[in-house]
Amino acid sequence: MKSRFAPSPTGYLHIGGARTALFVWLWAKKQQGQFILRIEDTDRERSTQASVDAILDGMQWLGLTYDEGPYYQTDRFDRYKAIIQQLIDEDKAYYCECSPERLQTLRDELMAKGEKAKYDGHCQHKNLISGVVRFRNPAEGNVVFSDLVKGEINVHNKELDDLIIARSDGTPTYNLTVVVDDHDMEIDYVIRGDDHINNTPRQINLYTSLGWDLPTFAHLPMILGSDGARLSKRHGAVSVMAYRDAGFLPEALLNYLVRLGWSHGDQEVFSVDEMIKLFELKNVNKAPGSFNQEKLLWLNQEYIKTADIQHLVDQLDWHLNEQSVDVSQGPDIVKVINALRERSKTLVEMTQGVKMFYQDFDRFDEKSASKQFKPATQPIIEALIAKYTELEDWSSEEIHTIVKQVCEEQGVGFGKAGQPFRLALSGTGNAGSIDVVAELVGKKRTLARLNMALNYITQIDD
Ligand code: GLU
Repeated sequence: MKSRFAPSPTGYLHIGGARTALFVWLWAKKQQGQFILRIEDTDRERSTQASVDAILDGMQWLGLTYDEGPYYQTDRFDRYKAIIQQLIDEDKAYYCECSPERLQTLRDELMAKGEKAKYDGHCQHKNLISGVVRFRNPAEGNVVFSDLVKGEINVHNKELDDLIIARSDGTPTYNLTVVVDDHDMEIDYVIRGDDHINNTPRQINLYTSLGWDLPTFAHLPMILGSDGARLSKRHGAVSVMAYRDAGFLPEALLNYLVRLGWSHGDQEVFSVDEMIKLFELKNVNKAPGSFNQEKLLWLNQEYIKTADIQHLVDQLDWHLNEQSVDVSQGPDIVKVINALRERSKTLVEMTQGVKMFYQDFDRFDEKSASKQFKPATQPIIEALIAKYTELEDWSSEEIHTIVKQVCEEQGVGFGKAGQPFRLALSGTGNAGSIDVVAELVGKKRTLARLNMALNYITQIDD
C-alpha cells in the first residue's frame, strides 16, 4: 500500500499542509505501507528552492520520514509530454487558441446570465496544432466516487468543462501531472485537502480515458482560525518552523495536529505510536477543524513536563544556540531542565530560565528591584550572606534551612527573605524553588548575586 504527500513549493510548510502530511503518513504507517513525498514544482514562477527546503525541514523536524522521494515533477516533464501527446493522438485532447479576452467575455456573459463560467468548446473541432491543450471531457454521464471522508460524491459531466492539461508553452498543468504521477508511482490512497475536491471528478475522467485504475480518495476538511475564517497568516504563525522557533516540541504539535479534524473518544494526548494504532480515515470529521493556540500551548506544557529528559536536552539545544547560551561550563543541564520543566510552557521560556544558571547579569529588573530591595531587606540579605559564606555543604536542604533560620531570627515570614533572594538569584524574580536554584547556581555565584543586591539597597540608602 502506498500513500503520498504532494506539496507545491510555493511557501513554507504551513499548519494545514503539515496536518495533511501527518494524516497521510499515519495512514501509511498504520497499514505498514509506503509514504511518498512528491514535490509538485511544475509552476516554475511560484516554486522556489527556499520553499522546497522549508518543506523538507518541516517534515524532518516533525519526524514525518518518507520511504520514497522526494520526487520532483520538474524531473518528469518528458513523461507528461508523452502522455499529453498520446491524448492528442487518440483525439482525447485538442489544441485551443482562444484568447484570454475571448475567454473573459465568455465568462462575463455566462455569469451575467447566472450560469456557471465554463469553456464553450469553441476549438473542439478545429484541428489546431498549437495553443493550450484541453482534455475532451465526456459530455454525458456522471462521475461518481466514494470519498473515505466525505462519502459518495456524484457530479454530472455537464458541470465539468474541457480542462487545460498543457499550457501554450507545453508545460503540463496540475490535474494532468497529479494523475500521471499517482498512476506511475502506484499510489493507492490520494489523501489531500478538500480544496481539491472539485478537481477529483476531472482527474477521474483522465484516469478513465487513459485506461488506468483509480486510487481511493480521501479529502480532509480545512482548518479554520479561532474567528471561523480559513486559517491564514492573519491568525499568527502558520508555518511549522515558526512553531519550532516559538519553543514547541514536535510531538506536541503532532498531537495537536492529529486532533484537528480527527478524534478518538475524548482522548486528548496521544503518543505517535498510539496515533498510528488508533488513526482511521473514517473517523476524520467532515466539518472543518478550528485552530486553538491555547490548547496547543497546554499540550506543549504537558509534553515538556513528561518528555524523556534526553529528548528535551536535544530539543533545547537549538534554542540555546539561537540565544547564545553556553551551558558547557556550570551545572549539569539535565538538572537545570528538571528544575525548570514544571514551569516552562515553551522551550523559549525554558531558555530564558536557563540563562541565570550560566550567565551573570549586571542589573536587576528595575520594577521588581524597587519593590523587593527595600532598606528593611538589608539585614536579611546581610544575614544570608554571612551564613552562606560559612556553609560548606552547598545543598538545597542546607540552603533552605538557612533561609528559615534567618526568618526566625529576624521575626519575619518566609516570603520576606524568599522573594528578595529569588530576585537576587535570577535578576528577574522568575525562578522556581529558590533552594534548588541556588544549589545549581553554585555558592560563588549565589554570594556574588546577594552582594549585588546588597549594593543596590545601600545605594538607595544614600
Ligand atoms: N500540490 C497540491 C497542493 O499543494 C496537492 C496535490 C494533491 O495532493 O493532489 O495543493
